[in-house]
Amino acid sequence: MKTETPFELTILGSSSALPTSDRYPTAQVLRVPGRFFLIDCGEGTQIQIRRQKISFSKINHIFISHLHGDHFYGLIGLLSTFNLLGLKKDIHIYSPSELKTLIQPQLDHLKADLQFKVIFHPLNFKKPQKIYSDKKVEVFSFPLKHSSPVCGFLFKEVPKQPNIKKEFITQYNIPIVEIKNIKGGADFKTADGKIISNAELTTLPPKPRSYAFCSDTVFLPEIAEIIKNVDLLYHEATFTENMKDWAKKTLHSTAKEAAEIARLANAGKLIIGHFSARYKTVSEFKKEAKSVFANTETAIDGNTYEVEQY
Ligand SMILES: [Zn+2]
Repeated sequence: MKTETPFELTILGSSSALPTSDRYPTAQVLRVPGRFFLIDCGEGTQIQIRRQKISFSKINHIFISHLHGDHFYGLIGLLSTFNLLGLKKDIHIYSPSELKTLIQPQLDHLKADLQFKVIFHPLNFKKPQKIYSDKKVEVFSFPLKHSSPVCGFLFKEVPKQPNIKKEFITQYNIPIVEIKNIKGGADFKTADGKIISNAELTTLPPKPRSYAFCSDTVFLPEIAEIIKNVDLLYHEATFTENMKDWAKKTLHSTAKEAAEIARLANAGKLIIGHFSARYKTVSEFKKEAKSVFANTETAIDGNTYEVEQY
């Protein structure tokens, strides 16, 4: 069921390393109130954004988990398009610091001068860190383990204040200044000295929703604590168990391991992706993951998943 305040994930790309005829390399957008966060930006991301009819102008924050080509080769094309469209808002990029060295020469080479600033925010690969916040959402990065420095991202709604029951406001003629106090947890004293408890006056706000993106990583059970009770979890699953040794060697996860993370983290729902192009279908991924964590889906490019509360 759609809620008034959107919090939903659209998969733009779910292939690893090589794109296939039906899967682009990693990219996704998280829709939150007022904006879209772009998470990774593999080749062809801008085409997928167009297909989804997502407004380019609503993307001002881009999160790049690591600097393997299948996670950021779409960036220069996307930034060039922003410029050709005349977009002027600053673009914030949260990424390994080397991205600036890689992409600045290409930006300098663009035909038309950049109409907006690109602001780079280097990620911390030693510990979790809050990297973004506004009135509605907070974003944290946390280190994963792969053959290149990599972070996952956790997006959390800021808890809303409780609502005051309307009938009390009219019944007791509650002044605005008191409404603020009540929302902050205070009781209310009526004109004739009667105390009405905060619990009676208010209804609880909806529980804040959360989404975690676990990019390329070897099985890393310690992240479960960081993403504990997350509503929606995306975790890479490059291989199935029959290639477990290869997964370990290349610092990737199997479908079963991704599901194990979801189980340890007590996630609400799991989406797995970043499938190796060597698999013709993803049915084995699904079967394997579901045997450990039932509420699992395999990512499909172009699909949107509502972040629901669990
Ligand atoms: Zn990758």
